[in-house]
Amino acid sequence: MQFSQIYGQSLLKESLRKMAEGKQIPHAVIWLGEDGTGNLPLAMAFATYLHCATPVEGDSCGRCDACGKHARLLHPDMHLSFPVIGKAGEAGGALSTSYLAEFRQAFTGNPYTSFADWLQLMEAGNKQASISRAECYDLMGRLSLTAYSGSWKILLMWMPEFLGQAGNVLLKMLEEPPPGTLFFLIATRTDHILPTIVSRAQVLRVPPIESDEIARAMVELHHLDHGEALSRAPLAEGNLTKMHQLMEAEEVVGLGDSLFMEMMRLAYSGKVTPLMVWLDQVSELGREGQKKILLVGLELLRGCLLEIHGARTLQPMEATQQAFIAGFSRFLDIPKINRIHKQLQEAILHLERNAHARLLFHNLVNRLHETLRPELQ
Ligand SMILES: [Zn+2]
Repeated sequence: MQFSQIYGQSLLKESLRKMAEGKQIPHAVIWLGEDGTGNLPLAMAFATYLHCATPVEGDSCGRCDACGKHARLLHPDMHLSFPVIGKAGEAGGALSTSYLAEFRQAFTGNPYTSFADWLQLMEAGNKQASISRAECYDLMGRLSLTAYSGSWKILLMWMPEFLGQAGNVLLKMLEEPPPGTLFFLIATRTDHILPTIVSRAQVLRVPPIESDEIARAMVELHHLDHGEALSRAPLAEGNLTKMHQLMEAEEVVGLGDSLFMEMMRLAYSGKVTPLMVWLDQVSELGREGQKKILLVGLELLRGCLLEIHGARTLQPMEATQQAFIAGFSRFLDIPKINRIHKQLQEAILHLERNAHARLLFHNLVNRLHETLRPELQ
């Protein structure tokens, strides 16, 4: 990870460079910031900078052996620790090393991986993640070894909030660290970390990302045009995770429209093969996305009702929605609208009660077909 790969945080990057040049690095640092501000990738980039053989212009070179190993999270002097759930057969507490492959995959795929994403990747379900006592003893063993590269040994612990009382095992080491050892603790809040640990570390605040840099991320990662990105960036409040959530929610809204329109075409035609493809697509959406299709449907149906009465909705509508309403209304009358309305509402209710989505939508399309084409029944 290089500083140049991280969105914004220019002031913090500058003070980290100064810290490295002056060799004034506190031996224990809490990198405090929300998920999505980049506290984890920043600590990774700083570690890379410290190990890089040939840094250039205030950043790691990205080409030397150390940089190559860091990019794959394989540097032997970088010890990673993070909350995990126990695997079968692990007596005395789970170890991060059991999930190292998954962690590498998650972080190299998205350096801004959130803790919620991580739990999902471990398929944690209702299981509690933690940093166990066994993990703390394992770390002490690893840190007591001589540095492989002759440079800094770095322990990077993500979410020390999950240490619990097990963290007391590390106090002695935090107080008198082995020579050349740095502790980087990546946290979102200090009030959930053992006070004995907080008091032994220096807190480095990672602020929200600058708005123009959030806009750059919107352009690069979500292909928004520059002007639009600039006007919407403040909504993300300097948080890249929040930005992704905003963008994805909007994509689902757009998708909800087209999936509903497609569903009504399928219900009218009664064609089976395209229905199976459509059901595949809907099954992949989360429950919220599936519900969105039906809610969008109620909205469009209301538009059809007004259209039939010769009144246009006052709500602003997109051109595709207007075209759909004008076209679809020709196949409807008031009793049909009422029946479809009822069928959609029932489906929403069943979806909220965790009905099997694929069966539910299949059933719904069949019933809509009966409503729309009574002459074929
Ligand atoms: Zn390098």
